[in-house]
Amino acid sequence: MLEVGRHGVQATVTDVSAQHRNLAEFTTLRLGGPARNLTVCRTTEELIATVTGADRAGEPILLIGGGSNLVIGDDGFPGTAVLVATDGIEFGADETGPHVTAAAGVNWDRLVAETVENGFGGLECLSGIPGAAGTTPVQNVGAYGVEVAQALRGVQLLDRRTGEIAWHAPEDLGLAYRTSRLKGRDDEVVLAVSFRLGDGGRSAPIRYRELAAALGVAEGESADAALVRAQVLKLRRGKGMVLDDADHDTWSAGSFFTNPIVAAGELPQILDRIRARLGDEVRIPQFPADGGTKLSAGWLIERAGFVKGFPGPQAPARLSTKHTLALTNRGAARTADLIELAARVRDGVRAEFGVSLHPEPVFVGCALPA
Ligand SMILES: Cc1cc2nc3c(=O)[nH]c(=O)nc-3n(C[C@H](O)[C@H](O)[C@H](O)COP(=O)(O)OP(=O)(O)OC[C@H]3O[C@@H](n4cnc5c(N)ncnc54)[C@H](O)[C@@H]3O)c2cc1C
Repeated sequence: MLEVGRHGVQATVTDVSAQHRNLAEFTTLRLGGPARNLTVCRTTEELIATVTGADRAGEPILLIGGGSNLVIGDDGFPGTAVLVATDGIEFGADETGPHVTAAAGVNWDRLVAETVENGFGGLECLSGIPGAAGTTPVQNVGAYGVEVAQALRGVQLLDRRTGEIAWHAPEDLGLAYRTSRLKGRDDEVVLAVSFRLGDGGRSAPIRYRELAAALGVAEGESADAALVRAQVLKLRRGKGMVLDDADHDTWSAGSFFTNPIVAAGELPQILDRIRARLGDEVRIPQFPADGGTKLSAGWLIERAGFVKGFPGPQAPARLSTKHTLALTNRGAARTADLIELAARVRDGVRAEFGVSLHPEPVFVGCALPA
C-alpha cells in the first residue's frame, strides 16, 4: 500500500486507478475535478523520469506537492497530475555554518520540526505551514515576520526546456513578497531545497509583534527555537491556519488574497476614502513594503462588511469563522462556489475602498472573473 498522507487530506492511495484521479483528494480545499492520469513519484529519479517522459510524449503535467496553494477547476486537469512524494532530509555544515537539504516532497512542517529537534534555529517561525518543502520557494512562503528567502541556501531545479539539472542561488529566483520566478509557471521543477540554519537552539530574531508579546521577548530578540515553534503553532491553530481534517476552517488555501501594496502616489487618496467610510479616528494597519505601503487584506475585507463566516451557515463556501482572509469549503462546495465567493469579496473591497485584492493561490483550469 502506498500512502500519500502528507497533505492534511490524508488520502491513502492504494493504486492510481480511476477512483483516485479526483484531484479534490489532493488539495487542502478538497476541490478540483479529475485528472486524466495521476502518478506518484517517491524518488527524485522517478520524478525526473516522469516529467521528462511526459514532456517527450507531449502530455501536460500538473505538479502537486501538498495541494495547499492550488485552486483546481471542477472540470479537473486534462493531463497527468504528478504527486511529488519524494523523501530525504540531510543535515550538513560548511564554512558558513550548518544547513539542511531536503527532497522536494518532504513535508515542510516535518522538516521544520526536525531542524528544531536537532537544536537548529532559523525556520521555527514558519512552523505549521502546510505543503511540501520543495514548494516553499515557489511563492516565497512567509509567516510571523519571516520568509523562506531569508534562510534559503539554494534550490535544485530540473529545467524542462533544456533537461538541465542544477542548483540555483536564491538571488537568481526572483523571490519577493509571495512570489518568485517559479510561481504560476511549470517549466522548472523543484527537485530539492537547502536552508542555512543557526546553531545553539536559538531562533531567528523575532520580528512579529504578536509573537514577541506571546513569548515575552522584545522585537528583534531571539528565543529558544522549540518555544518559538510551539508558540507559532498555538497562534496559527487559533486562526485555523494549521491543517485539521475535523475543522472546516482549515479546508482552505490559507490566505486567499495577498496584502495589497499601494504605490506612494495612490496612498493618500485610498486612506482618505477608508476614513470617509469608517471615520477619521480609524487606525488603518499599514507597513512599509517594497514598491509602496502594504495594507492588511484581512482588515479591509472585514471592514468592507465581509465578516468571519460570511455569507452564513448555509453557504457551501464561506469565509473562515476564525480568519476573514481564508476562504473555506464547508464540505459540499464546488470550485465554482469558491470562485463566486472570492469575486464577491474582491469586488466588495474594491467598491468600498478602491483597493484591488489579488489572489495568492495558483489557479488551474479556472480563474477569477475580471
Ligand atoms: C491552512 C493553510 C495555511 C497556510 N499558511 C501559509 C502561510 O502562513 N504562509 C504562506 O506563505 N503560505 C501559507 N499557505 C499556503 C501554502 O501552504 C504554501 O504556499 C505552500 O508552500 C504550498 O505548498 P504545496 O506543496 O501545498 O503546493 P501545491 O499547492 O501543491 O502547489 C503550489 C504550486 O506549486 C507548483 N509545484 C508543486 N510542486 C512543485 C515542484 N516540485 N516544483 C515546481 N512547482 C511545484 C504547483 O504546480 C502549483 O502551481 C497556507 C495554506 C493553508 C491551507
